[in-house]
Amino acid sequence: MATETARIPELMDILTRVYRAAAVARSVRACLLTSRDRDFALNQLKRVSAEQSGIPLYHYSTSSRRQFQRETPNWRTCGGSVQDSCLLLQETRGLRGGGIVVLEDMLELMRENGGRADLRQELAYQLGEHRGDGVVLVFLEAPEAERHLPAMIADQVIRLSVPYPRRDELEGLCREEVAAALRDARQPFDVDQIRRIAPALAEGLVGLTRSAARDALRDALALDTHDFDGALLRLQERKRMQLSRELQMDVLRTEDAGEPVGLDYLVDFLRIHGAGMRRSGRDRARGVLLIGPPGTGKTMLAKCIGKIVELPVVEFRVSSLMNSLLGETERRFQQAFSVLEALSPVLCFIDEIDKIFSDEGGERTGGTMSRVSGAMLSWLSENLHPVYVIATSNSLKRMGEIGSTMTRSERFDSLFFVDVPSREARRQIFVHQLSNRLNGLEIVAADLADITDRFSGADLVSVVKHARARADAAGQSLTRELLVREIERKRARAEALYTEFQPLRAWGRLHCEAAGPTDTL
Ligand code: ADP
Repeated sequence: MATETARIPELMDILTRVYRAAAVARSVRACLLTSRDRDFALNQLKRVSAEQSGIPLYHYSTSSRRQFQRETPNWRTCGGSVQDSCLLLQETRGLRGGGIVVLEDMLELMRENGGRADLRQELAYQLGEHRGDGVVLVFLEAPEAERHLPAMIADQVIRLSVPYPRRDELEGLCREEVAAALRDARQPFDVDQIRRIAPALAEGLVGLTRSAARDALRDALALDTHDFDGALLRLQERKRMQLSRELQMDVLRTEDAGEPVGLDYLVDFLRIHGAGMRRSGRDRARGVLLIGPPGTGKTMLAKCIGKIVELPVVEFRVSSLMNSLLGETERRFQQAFSVLEALSPVLCFIDEIDKIFSDEGGERTGGTMSRVSGAMLSWLSENLHPVYVIATSNSLKRMGEIGSTMTRSERFDSLFFVDVPSREARRQIFVHQLSNRLNGLEIVAADLADITDRFSGADLVSVVKHARARADAAGQSLTRELLVREIERKRARAEALYTEFQPLRAWGRLHCEAAGPTDTL
């Protein structure tokens, strides 16, 4: 059963229904509620209790047992400490009148490998046989704890997650906070101005929990409540740092992105799916997997598509995240997925996605690798947010093993092979790179295209760059001869690289669409 990321009203609705059903059947039900924002999640449960009059809410921990008082509204102690988690769980059996009982951080103790069998059995007993006044046990946990859910009861546990707040929700939060800050400072405020600034401020807060967003906004406004521009800059910088440092994600600049030459079929395909990239749910556009040698314009393409469809492009460096602190890796991946969802609609560029499927250091990492790659595969197929993934791979070895699972249609809409440029594409790249720099441009570009078969786009750009540097150093203007000499210098390497990718090319011919017109051999 997959975890359902419910919007807040749905979440409250589901919990209310489950409680009513438990009360009618006089049974015990269990929910796993995962969230990074515990205060917020608890507040939502309080709202369920307050708004659905008659649902008692309890919070049980080994140090105290408390009941929520709707009237005050506050917690009141209703039982002493119970040092043992299993005894604590047993305490819920005797609850008069039933209710929702929140238990925090209990799942790890229940894990099958090294966890407590008595705790698992107690829960299994309650879910299966115990009769009481209708109880819903809500296990409040961090998202990565889900993997500790014991298999024997996994099917009986309803899994819900409280998502990171999306832009629209954060906009509301910004409007409230700015108005409150101005009121506290006894400063006049202009409602229209607050409305105008709120979306930009909210943008800088995407990827934070509600409490952290509130704190960040208060910090940003602390010096001068009216300095919205300054606050905006501080928030943008904070967000950039958080994404880059903690989650290995960078928002790529797309404004000046050029269109890669010779990838016309691929660009067309992506252009047509532009509307689908903003769609949520099962029929959303999912993404493309680009196979091919390096330097053929795949990164350039991702930026260019972002510009065409007017969506931000986030590069997610999965292999750097793999190398972060071991125990942290899984948590960071889950966080990265949640942040991408909060940032949506968004394009997510993942270079060399195959790297997370490599088994290097398998023993040393204690299975982290396979859990992360498993998490990545399920996220690709199960996430319902408009996160359009453009992933690349250039390793046949790794693709061979994962090829069949990776390329299943619920993960990517299509596979393209992006190869070195055709003769016509090479000619165009030379024309573009050399414009205004050479006499007889058209003829020279055609000649150079003739002698650069098997060079990648990046090789051609580098030929021009280095030839220009030599011309500048010698104080002369760029000539055909300098360019030809540079081509000869690079030929051996370009050809070796081309040959290295022959097996991948053969695989690509069988499994992928071509990204653009190719030379007929
Ligand atoms: P990849 O992501 O496939 O490794 P990049 O997009 O990083 O390749 O390419 C590096 C540079 O090479 C680009 O910034 C661009 O200058 C040039 N280049 C590569 N392929 C093309 C192409 N098809 N059209 C135009 N320029 C290209």
